Amino acid sequence: MADKPDFKSTLNLPQTPFSMKAKLAQKEPEMLKRWAAMDLYGRILKNREKSPAFVLHDGPPYANGRIHLGTSLNKILKDFIIKAKTMEGYRAPYLPGWDCHGLPIEIHVDKLLGEKKKDMSIIEFREECRKYALKFIDVQREEFVRLGVFGDWPAPYLTMNPSYEAAVLRFLAAFFSSGNVYKGLRPVHWCPHCQTALAEAEIEYKDRSSPSIYVKFPLVSDLSAKFPALAEKRVFILIWTTTPWTLPANLAIAFHPDYEYVAVEVGDEVYILAKRLLPVVAEELGFREPRVLATFPGKDMDRLKARHPWIDRESLIVLAEYVTLEDGTGCVHTAPGHGQEDYLTGVAYGLEIYTPVDSEGKFIPQVERYGGQNVFDANALITADMKKEGSILKEGTITHSYPHCWRCKNPVIFRATSQWFISIDHGGLRQKALDAIKNVHWIPPWGEERIANMMAARPDWCISRQRKWGVPIPAFECRSCGQVLASAEIALRAADIFSREGSNSWFTKGIDEFLPAGTKCSRCGSSSFEKENNILDVWFESGSSHSVLGVRPDLPWPADVYIEGHDQHRGWFNSSLIVGVGARGGSPYRTCITHGFILDEQGRAMSKSLGNFIEPEEIISKDGAEVLRLWVAMLNYKEDAKFGPEILERLEDAYRKIRNTWRFILGNISDFSPDREHLEAENLLLLDRWALDKTAEFGQRILKAYEEYEYHTVFHSLFTFFTVELSAFYLDVLKDRLYCSAKGSALRKSAQTALFEILRTTLTLMAPILPFTTEEAWESLSGFKGKEDSIHLASFPSFERKWLDEEIGREMDGLLALRETVLKELERAREEKLIGNSLEAQVHLRIPAAEEALVRKYEGDLASLFIVSSVVLESAEEFAVRISRAPGAKCQRCWNYSVYVGQSRDYPELCRRCEDVVRELA
Ligand SMILES: [Zn+2]
Ligand SMILES: [Zn+2]
Ligand SMILES: [Zn+2]
Repeated sequence: MADKPDFKSTLNLPQTPFSMKAKLAQKEPEMLKRWAAMDLYGRILKNREKSPAFVLHDGPPYANGRIHLGTSLNKILKDFIIKAKTMEGYRAPYLPGWDCHGLPIEIHVDKLLGEKKKDMSIIEFREECRKYALKFIDVQREEFVRLGVFGDWPAPYLTMNPSYEAAVLRFLAAFFSSGNVYKGLRPVHWCPHCQTALAEAEIEYKDRSSPSIYVKFPLVSDLSAKFPALAEKRVFILIWTTTPWTLPANLAIAFHPDYEYVAVEVGDEVYILAKRLLPVVAEELGFREPRVLATFPGKDMDRLKARHPWIDRESLIVLAEYVTLEDGTGCVHTAPGHGQEDYLTGVAYGLEIYTPVDSEGKFIPQVERYGGQNVFDANALITADMKKEGSILKEGTITHSYPHCWRCKNPVIFRATSQWFISIDHGGLRQKALDAIKNVHWIPPWGEERIANMMAARPDWCISRQRKWGVPIPAFECRSCGQVLASAEIALRAADIFSREGSNSWFTKGIDEFLPAGTKCSRCGSSSFEKENNILDVWFESGSSHSVLGVRPDLPWPADVYIEGHDQHRGWFNSSLIVGVGARGGSPYRTCITHGFILDEQGRAMSKSLGNFIEPEEIISKDGAEVLRLWVAMLNYKEDAKFGPEILERLEDAYRKIRNTWRFILGNISDFSPDREHLEAENLLLLDRWALDKTAEFGQRILKAYEEYEYHTVFHSLFTFFTVELSAFYLDVLKDRLYCSAKGSALRKSAQTALFEILRTTLTLMAPILPFTTEEAWESLSGFKGKEDSIHLASFPSFERKWLDEEIGREMDGLLALRETVLKELERAREEKLIGNSLEAQVHLRIPAAEEALVRKYEGDLASLFIVSSVVLESAEEFAVRISRAPGAKCQRCWNYSVYVGQSRDYPELCRRCEDVVRELA
C-alpha cells in the first residue's frame, strides 16, 4: 500500500512558546526577578517623568503578622489603580507604608519578653518593639511583592521613621496653634485588661449579659407644698441601670425637661417615674393598683435632691434632653465620671467628674464597702447589698450590645481620666470636616452619609495613651503646682529633635533640650518641670500619613485616591480627614473608595477557629498570584466578597479560557511580521474589520471601566468578548483561513493583522489585572517597531471605531443574524444524524427579494461564515434554510467537501484551494 501523502505538514498549524499549562507558581517568581533586574518600576516612572501626577496614597497596614486574603484584596486593588493609571498616561508612583507603633506590637513584645522585661529600660523595650515591627515589615513586603504589586518597596514610609515622627508632631503643633488641643478629665473607653484608653475605632460591639436592676432613690426635697397628696408619704425616684458598679459614682438623676412624670402610690411607698412608662414598669415590677397622686413635667424637678441608696451623699436631679422613653423609667442614673452624656450633664451642672475606679478596673480604697473590688465582680455584691437593704425593686439580667476591646476582646468600661484631646468643635473643626466630606468623591456613594454621620456625632478625639511604643506627646507638668505646659512652639521644637534622633530622644534627653531656656510656669512661675509620659493615639499617627505627600514633587498633596476597607470610615479615613482639615486646611483625599471584607462561600467571616481560613500563600503556591488577582477583578469589591474552593475552581477555568485565547492568537501570528505585513484597513476582509471594530468597542468600554474603578466590568467585558465574540465565532470561523490558506496569502495576512491588533490590545488592557500572564504573552509576541521591553512600559491604546462604516456595519449585523439561524438548522441536522461535522453540510438558502442584494454580495463568504462546505442560494417568496449533505468528497487536507476532490491528476485527495496551496509548496 502506498504511503498516504502527508498533507498535515502543509498546514499552517499554530506555534508558540506560550504554553497551555500556565505553571504560574514557578514562572511568577522568575518574572519578579527579571523585573527587579531591569528595574522595571524605576523605568516606568522614568518614562512618565513629565506626565501629570496621579497619587494613590497607601493606607499603612499594621506591621504585625502575615498578610491574609483581606490584605491581599486591598493591595491588589491598589495595584490595579496604579498600573491602570500608569497605562492611562499618568505618573503614578506607589509609596507603600507601614503602621508601626501601637498596642498590638507592645502586647506581643511584652509576651515574648516575659520576665526579661522587668530589667529592661524603656529604650531597650522600644528597641525590641522596633525590631518586631521591622521583622513583619520584611515578611509582608515580600508577600506584597509576590502578588505582583509594583511600588517603591525598598523605601517605604514607616510611622516609626524619625522624619515621620517629626511630621506627626508638626501636625500636632498645628492643632496646638489653632487652640484645638486641651487636657481634661473626661470619660473615655477604657480597657482594664490592657490598661489603656481606647479610641472609637478600637471598640467592638458584642452581645453581653448584664444585670438589669430597678433601684429607688429616696427623695430629699419635699414636694408636699405643691402636691398635698404627697404629704407624709415616703417618696422615691425610680431608676433602672445595667451597670450597678457605676452606682458608687452616682451624683445625679436626669429627667427630660418636657416629658410628663408621675408620682404613683404603690402600697405604702410613692415612686416617681415617666408617665408614659408607668404601664410597662407597673407590669414589670408587679405594681398592684398603682394610684397616681401627682403629674408634672420633668422640668419641675430641676435641682431638687434625692439621696444615694447607701452612701451618705445627695444625688442632684438634673435635666437632660437625651433622656428617652425607650426603656427604663425616664429617670436616668447619672455618673459623670463613667459616661459621655453623664459627663456633659455633669459639666453643665458643675458636678465633680468623679471616677472612683483605677486603671485596672478596681474601686479605689476610699470607696465605701467595695474598695479594691473589680467593678464587674462588684455588680453582684452591690446588687445583693441593695437587695438586703430594700433599695431594689427588681433584679434580672439582659443581653445587650456592649463595647469590647478590639485587642483583648474583654468588655471595656467608661472611665474619666486625665487625657489629651482634640476638640472637634473648637474653631468650627467639625463643620469644616463636614464641608470637606461634601467635596470628596465617595465610592460607593453611601460612604458619604456614613462618614458624615460619624463626623457629626463623634466626641472630642482623645489622643493620649498611657503606653510606651509610640510618639510621645511633648508636654510637661510644673513640679510645684502641677500646671500643664504644652504648646505649638514646644511641639515644633520636639519635632526638630525627633527628626534628627527619633522619638527615643524624648526618654534620653534632658528637659532643657525640649524647653526654651528660661521657660517658667504660667501659674506659679516655677522653672522646674517634668516630662509627661503619654504617647499619641496611633490613629493620630496613621491619620498623619498624608504628611508624606507634598514633600516630593512626584507625590503632591492631596492624594487623588484613598482606598481601604469599609470599616475605615470610622478609622483611617476619619482620622486622616480630621488631621488634614485641622493641620492642612482640607481633605487629604479627593476620592475615597471602600472595599468589602472576605467571607467564606457560606457567607461567614473567615477565621482560624472556624477552620474556613484560607491563606493567600495556599493559593499562590498552587495557582499563582495571578489567580488571586483575577478573583479580585471578578468580584464587585464594593461589597463583601466570598472565597472558597468552588470559587477557586471557577477562577481556574476562567483563567484557562483567557490564557488559551491568547495562546491561540499567539500560535497563529508567529510567522506574522507586524512591521512588514500589517494590512491597511481597506485591504482587510470584512470579517476582520468587523473583529477590529468589536475590539475597539470593547476597548472603549474597558477604558471607561478603568476610569471609574470598575474592575469587575473590565474582567467581565473581557471574558464575554473572549468567549462570545472570539472563541464561539471569530476565531472558530478563522481557523480554516489560517490553517489552510497559503502561508503568505492576503487572506491569511488579513486575519493575522486583525489577530495581532486584538492580541496587543487585549494584553495591554489586561496588564494591570494579569501582570504576569500578559508579560509572558508579550515576551512570546514577535518584535515590532516600538515594542516596549515590558508590557508594563506600554500605554493603553486609544480606540476609534474606524474599521467599519455604518453601512458595512449594518450588513455585517444582517449576516450574523443569518448565521444564527443557519447554526440552529445545522444543530438540528446533527441531532438527526444527517451530518456530523458541520463541514459535511451544504446549506440551501431561499432568499426573499428584500434580502437578496445583501446575501448575494457576500455569497463567497457564506460557507466560511457558517463553517460548512458549500452554500446554495435560491430566490424565493419566503425565507427558508435547508441542510443537506455536501456533495463531493472530503478534501484530505482541509476536510471541506468538494466535487473537485478526485479530479486532479496530481492531487486527487485535495480540493482546488488546497491543491493550489500544495502545488505552490512543492
Ligand atoms: Zn484590652
Ligand atoms: Zn507651677
Ligand atoms: Zn482542501
